[in-house]
Amino acid sequence: MEARRRSSTKPVQSLKPTKTVSVDEDLTKASDALPLPLHLSNAVFFTLFFSAVYFLLSHWREKIRTSTPLSVVTYSEIIAILAFVASFIYLLGFFGTDFVQSLILRPQTEVWNSEDDDEVADVLLRKEDARKVPCGQALNCSLPPLPPPAPIVTVQKVLDEKPVTVLTEEDEEIIKSVVAGTTPSYSLESKLGDCKRAAAIRREALQRLTGKSLEGLPLDGFDYESILGQCCEMPVGYVQIPVGIAGPLLINGREYSVPMATTEGCLVASTNRGCKAIHLSGGATSTLLRDGMTRAPVVRFGTAKRAADLKLYLEDPDNFDTLAVVFNRSSRFGRLQGIKCAIAGKNLYLRFTCTTGDAMGMNMVSKGVQNVLDFLQTDFPDMDVMGISGNFCSDKKPAAVNWIEGRGKSVVCEAIIKGDIVRKVLKTTVESLVELNMLKNLTGSAMAGALGGFNAHASNIVTAVYIATGQDPAQNVESSHCITMMEAVNDGQDLHISVTMPSIEVGTVGGGTQLASQSACLNLLGVKGASKESAGANSRMLATVVAGAVLAGELSLMSALAAGQLVKSHMKYNRSNKDVSKASS
Ligand code: ADP
Repeated sequence: MEARRRSSTKPVQSLKPTKTVSVDEDLTKASDALPLPLHLSNAVFFTLFFSAVYFLLSHWREKIRTSTPLSVVTYSEIIAILAFVASFIYLLGFFGTDFVQSLILRPQTEVWNSEDDDEVADVLLRKEDARKVPCGQALNCSLPPLPPPAPIVTVQKVLDEKPVTVLTEEDEEIIKSVVAGTTPSYSLESKLGDCKRAAAIRREALQRLTGKSLEGLPLDGFDYESILGQCCEMPVGYVQIPVGIAGPLLINGREYSVPMATTEGCLVASTNRGCKAIHLSGGATSTLLRDGMTRAPVVRFGTAKRAADLKLYLEDPDNFDTLAVVFNRSSRFGRLQGIKCAIAGKNLYLRFTCTTGDAMGMNMVSKGVQNVLDFLQTDFPDMDVMGISGNFCSDKKPAAVNWIEGRGKSVVCEAIIKGDIVRKVLKTTVESLVELNMLKNLTGSAMAGALGGFNAHASNIVTAVYIATGQDPAQNVESSHCITMMEAVNDGQDLHISVTMPSIEVGTVGGGTQLASQSACLNLLGVKGASKESAGANSRMLATVVAGAVLAGELSLMSALAAGQLVKSHMKYNRSNKDVSKASS
């Protein structure tokens, strides 16, 4: 309760998210971060308040009886008056503010307004928050008007409309046959032709087989047809992850509300604070440097000489056009950009790079590569294709090749944060930030032998945005490669900050992007589906937003660290004040 009370009255200041807190650790309350636990300090001040009042009243009654003027005060009365005033201020601050807050019903989501003690920033922000148009439209009045808002459907309503799945007697027979092993669990969808029913039966069979309850993992309220053959096999329910919004994030003159799916306290609030600092400083500029997905099969020859022959053939510019024609047959959108080869003895690794439109592109590039391998077999019949992926791609593993060459979208995003915004919003100084960045993100990461990890927490933001927008979260490995640079500019007054991210792997079509929730988040960003203007524009835009959100996250966390606020804010926002032992029982 203390933490909740304080969160509504005190500014959001910092906030590094990192580790998962174990249940044991969580038994500690947020207020334990304070030198004196809140319930003790409340008790002390209550006692002080009532003792002082009692003491003063009894003394004044005595004075009135003996006709002594009240203005004649003794030392003990002065001390009692001071104690009264101090405890009154404490109790008013602690209980009174919440009371006033509850009267005016101030929305808790106005993190920006609540955290700021800077008048200039407040005025600017009130203007920002007063906008009635959605993000993207705030700066562009020529855009068409929005369609009327969809009715708000509450969870209760959904539950009312869609009754909880009830299993029939026929279902019971199928459950028994799955438990007995006579009906394979994976075949339920094709046998029943009803994905929801298949999931319900599989779930029940699983509970009986394991003797473990799945209560808490919802089954109803999800479209199981939408994942069939594309996103997830053998479903038994779905996991709910809250989606928070950071922003508006101002990049290249457009505002974005960034959806972040996370269960890590502080993360959204921290990114939101970074967005605010960027917005108040005029916004960030995000530039796409390169756009190409890669796939690298491994092929083997009888000799290293033959492997070298193929390498020379593939890298000869005269052969590129032929290879591109063969490659490009796979898709309207996959266009071969280049092939880079690496030899290990008799083995050759062929790293193909191609554009993939608005798709993240792994399937697309793989199909194109298969076409080329089939074609090469004619001229190189002694070539053994060992694997369509030989890890020189390199997908979902930390690898220098991605860090140096890039994979997916390579983006650099920068902003100049004004000195007074650094002080008033980020509660630190330009000098401290620059020094900490050098010591932590550059030198510290070098000491750790980092590979693409020259940043504070890029993967936090990348992963949260990826989950919200239906990206492949496993690709956060290379997508989070990032070097964060900070420099004092304008005679040391302001901060230049940049994030350079060579391997942001995102798409707005294919994979999980078409699912209802994820698609809604893409829609919020204005990048849902295939771009109508130019193939690939939506996915490129999404990559620039990811980089911008990382910039905001880096700015805020580094500031929290520089100001020494990290532990304090985590105690405040990242630790539940609930009694975990009760919750688990
Ligand atoms: P990935 O290659 O990322 O795994 P998929 O192959 O599942 O993605 O999805 C890409 C599919 O979407 C292809 O069939 C492609 O033809 C289609 N598609 C439609 N519009 C676009 C577009 N603008 N960009 C890329 N692919 C598109």
